[in-house]
Amino acid sequence: MAVDVAQLVGRAREGKPRAVARLITLVEGASPQLREVMAALAPLCGNAYVVGLTGSPGVGKSTSTSALVTAYRKAGKRVAVLAVDPSSPFSGGALLGDRVRMSEHASDPGVYIRSMATRGHLGGLAWAAPQAIRVLDAAGFDVVLVETVGVGQSEVEIAAQADTAAVLLAPGMGDGIQAAKAGILEIGDVYVVNKADREGADATARELNHMLGLGEARQPGDWRPPIVRTVAARGEGVDELVEALEKHRAWMDEHGVLAERRARRAAGEIEAIAVTALRERIGDLRGDRRLGALAERILAGTLDPYAAADELVAGLTGD
Ligand code: GDP
Repeated sequence: MAVDVAQLVGRAREGKPRAVARLITLVEGASPQLREVMAALAPLCGNAYVVGLTGSPGVGKSTSTSALVTAYRKAGKRVAVLAVDPSSPFSGGALLGDRVRMSEHASDPGVYIRSMATRGHLGGLAWAAPQAIRVLDAAGFDVVLVETVGVGQSEVEIAAQADTAAVLLAPGMGDGIQAAKAGILEIGDVYVVNKADREGADATARELNHMLGLGEARQPGDWRPPIVRTVAARGEGVDELVEALEKHRAWMDEHGVLAERRARRAAGEIEAIAVTALRERIGDLRGDRRLGALAERILAGTLDPYAAADELVAGLTGD
């Protein structure tokens, strides 16, 4: 059923959660109205501050996200949470979004929480999450917290989609070594040692500090990722975390880094959408005469796979 996009966008900007949900569903499901929706959102985007939260399962991402929502709400900001689960094929608000820890914000009209699963999703994470972020941005949320659920390399991908990436660790999880392995030492703008009430928090922070210091010599004016200690479960250190995030944001503004990052992000979005479209069209060719004919020529030794692919791509983009 066709929807009145302008009206829907208007309602979303008034903070009506059902309108926001509907818009995300439209862009997530690649509806026929997707293009109309994205065009309507375009002039409204660019105001939200997007913070990514990553880290191993159990470090306290969900608890920290909830605590951050509380802190930003106290400051009068409208906050959206996008919980992205790259390991699950199930999407939608109810399945994951219904999490108990977030329930304290459930009745707050200034808060919107949405889960998104991207496994098996057409175009995957690179395609789906940025479009949902656009909806939330256009809907007028001041802060969008993008939290990863589950594990994997996609953590790096999500960090790349944020303005500021916060990497969480916790003591006693062998996190230092894990962090180095996962390459998250390169992606953090702010590091959080959560569960600072637990033994070993100092050692984790020290180890992290040491590892961060091993990087290249910094230039004056470079950003030195701070390490913030929190007890998210009790809301301790969360104001300091907000302060660290805001400092990073101010630094990015001052050095033109924010615009640079957002331009890189937009380029990545275009690429993901274009590649998805191309892949779809090539997929449609399976069993098609053209692809079959090219394969025959490879078998006959009259064509090599590179030349065949060039011919195929030229044929697809030439029209
Ligand atoms: P996630 O998997 O990274 O989202 O982690 P969760 O937020 O679900 O937290 C995992 C567990 O750690 C939960 O049982 C939390 O209650 C607990 N937890 C979170 N923050 C803290 C903290 O600061 N201190 C302690 N001791 N436990 C915490």
